[in-house]
Order: sequence, then structure tokens, then C-alpha cells
Amino acid sequence: MSKIFSLCKRRGFIYPGSEIYGGLTGFWDYGPLGVELKNNIKKVWWQTMVYEREDVVGIDAAIIMNPKVWQASGHTEAFTDPLVECKNCHHRFRADKIETNNCPDCQGELTEPKKFNLLTEVYVGTVEEAKKKTYLRGEITQGVFINFKNIVDSTRIRIPFGVAQIGKAFRNEITPGNFTYRSREFEQMELEFFIEPDEKEADKWFNYFLNLRLDWYKRLGIRENKLRAREHREDERAHYARKAVDIEYEAPFGWSEFEGIHHRGDWDLSRHNLRYQDKLTQKEYFPWVIEISGGVDRAMLFFLIDSYYEEKERVILKLNHKLAPVKIAVFPLVRNKEEMVKKAKRIYQELKKYFLTTFDDRGNIGKRYFSQDEIGTPYCITVDYQSLEDDSVTVRERDTTSQARVSVSHLVNYLKVALS
Ligand code: ATP
Repeated sequence: MSKIFSLCKRRGFIYPGSEIYGGLTGFWDYGPLGVELKNNIKKVWWQTMVYEREDVVGIDAAIIMNPKVWQASGHTEAFTDPLVECKNCHHRFRADKIETNNCPDCQGELTEPKKFNLLTEVYVGTVEEAKKKTYLRGEITQGVFINFKNIVDSTRIRIPFGVAQIGKAFRNEITPGNFTYRSREFEQMELEFFIEPDEKEADKWFNYFLNLRLDWYKRLGIRENKLRAREHREDERAHYARKAVDIEYEAPFGWSEFEGIHHRGDWDLSRHNLRYQDKLTQKEYFPWVIEISGGVDRAMLFFLIDSYYEEKERVILKLNHKLAPVKIAVFPLVRNKEEMVKKAKRIYQELKKYFLTTFDDRGNIGKRYFSQDEIGTPYCITVDYQSLEDDSVTVRERDTTSQARVSVSHLVNYLKVALS
């Protein structure tokens, strides 16, 4: 973890939030490479979950909603973690994460668990007295439910259908930690899939989405032996869930959830009193919901951990091509040969139209390769003496370091195929 942490900071993936003022626990800022990796994860997710399907539409709801939403959803009452406090050092811990009855820091005696609400309060309005208390959303899900009627009325979709959303959520986590794993501000990517209220139907869609999501992570390169699906015990389940299975990754800090598949039944729509009437059959009911809820930050952290390799003196992020923040790097072999630098610059400008491309002429070529390997750039292109004679370049592949000679006129197509 410390290697990942320092790589992230050094190369501009993730910085501690508000660092120059001593930081703020549980908040992180994504740097130039981090924002690309995160955006790529979201893009591929949206591609799979929305564009490639006929039964899903997307929305982008507001972060701040009327506080009645959170009362109806049960979050003001039940969105709690049980907390214990050490009577000696007064450190607080999540009761469900403590193995013995003693303080992990000083062995002191612990209090009985107390409920602690995770919603972050916020005040909206301009005049002190008229300010209204509400919350930053603790999960993005509710934005979908409260728009259920709007979505049904303004589109042609019929049950079974899904609504996808990606966006920020906020939780006053008691113990933020493990880098970005448990943050107080984070991003979720979710699908709420509405079905007829029927257990068989629910089972079918639950298993379908669980397999789809496991496959998605595998296709993007997460090693199979590091992935597992774990069903929640009854006492672990959130207040809205009838059944829950976590997709977990074996991180250096143990098996950890990074996505949940939940059978929410009609909990939310009935609490918001939102019935569905089928446009063709006129059948009316509270639909049930199968939810897939993934964390963008947690997925990114696990993609980084899973793709991190050390081989001899080089560090490589073997990121899937679709996720790699930078796709191509272009180098002139030497920086003091004007013609070569000019040619490299021209190629760089051309490739930039198609792929996220970077240019580097610092240090020696070996160092430049290593520098790109470390951030996961799939292909490096070198313009050398031969390029000036026959208009060809070398294309070097990240994982194998194998090199191919490609003519400049074919380069864009060559790279399109190689990166697909
Ligand atoms: P945990 O048990 O780890 O607190 P949870 O079961 O409360 O997580 P859910 O409410 O199911 O999490 O949220 C769905 C997803 O949102 C999680 O799988 C995770 O990827 C992400 N997520 C939840 N809390 C956080 C957090 N504090 N920081 C980063 N991501 C989070």
C-alpha cells in the first residue's frame, strides 16, 4: 500500500485533500493522471451499463435534496454504524470491525455500542434564520427513486428497466482509512433495476447482475483469484436490503467490498409512495429494485493495486488499455537533432487528435520508457535516425517491451487496432 500511495502522489494520480493546510481526514484530490483513470472507469462503466443495453437510461440528480427524502428513505433513522469508545484513550471504533472487547490502540475497556448517523448535515439558504437543514446525499440511489415517476412519464421504458447514475456521495465515516478505500467524499456508479414484485424474477435478475458485474471486473483485468462474491449475513444487511452480495477484492489490507448487489424489494418506492402503472397492461404495483452499487474510488484503488508489478528495475502498471490514463508517448531518440525533434512533435500533434498522447524528450530513452511503464502507458513511439530516412518509427509495447517498426502513414490505424 505504501508503494501505491507514493506512486499516486509522485506521479499525480491522487493527492491528500487540502494538503497545504494539514489535510482533512477522509478527503482526497485526484491529479492529472488520476482524473483520467477515474474518467475512464466511469466511461467504460457507462458504456457497458447504459449504451450497450436497451433497457437502461441514465440520469444525473442533484447532490442536495429535500430532507424529507432522507426521512422517507429511512436514512435519518437507520443510516448508522454502531460505535464503541475506549474509556481510557477515548478513541472510537466501529463496533462491527472490533474483534475483542478491548481498545486496539491501548487495550482499554470499551463502552457499549452507540448508534452514529453517517449523513453529513448541510444548511441551505442565505439568511441565518431561514436556513434549512438538509444533508449531502449519503448514497446516490435516492436521486433515482424520487425521479421514478418523471422518468416513466417522460420516456417509453417499461418494466423491467434500469436507471443508471454516477456521482458523488458523502458519509461521515467514523474511521476513514486505507487510502481512498474509506473516504468521506466518494463517487458511486449505480444501476437501479426495476422489476415486477416476484421472488423468481428477483432471483433471476440478482444473479444475472452479479455475474455481469464480476465479468466486467475480470474483463478489465482484475485477477480472478483476487475476486470473490460474499453474501451478507442477516445482521450485516443495510436497512433496505432483503438480500445483499458484496463483490470483494483481496487487498493488502484483506478482503474488501468494492461493489454491492442489493435486493431492495419495494422499500424505497413504497416509502416514497411511487406506484408504477404499466402503459400496456395497466397493471399497478410498487416495483421491486435490484441495485448494483459500485464505488468509483474503490474500483480505481483496486485497479491500481492489481495492475502494479515490479520487474527487475522497472515498475509497471499493467492497466487495461481502456483504463490507462495516457495511451501513447512519443519520443525523439535524441533531443539535440532538430529534424528528429520536429518530426516527433509532428507525430505527437497528429496522434493527439485520436488518443491521449504525451511527448517526452528528457533524459535517456530507457528512463523515458520506465517513466511511462510506471503510469501504465501501453505504447511508446520513438523517432530515430532511421525515421528520417524511411518515415517509420518504433512502437514499443509496455508489458512485453517488444518493439515493432511501423510506417508513419499507418501509425494511427496500427494504434487504433492495438489499443482496441
Ligand atoms: P462499507 O461496509 O465498506 O462501509 P457499505 O456496505 O456501507 O460499505 P454501500 O452502502 O453498499 O457500502 O455502498 C456501495 C458502494 O459505495 C460500496 O461498495 C463502495 O464501493 C462505495 N462506498 C461506500 N462507502 C464508501 C466510502 N466511505 N468510501 C469510498 N467508497 C465507498
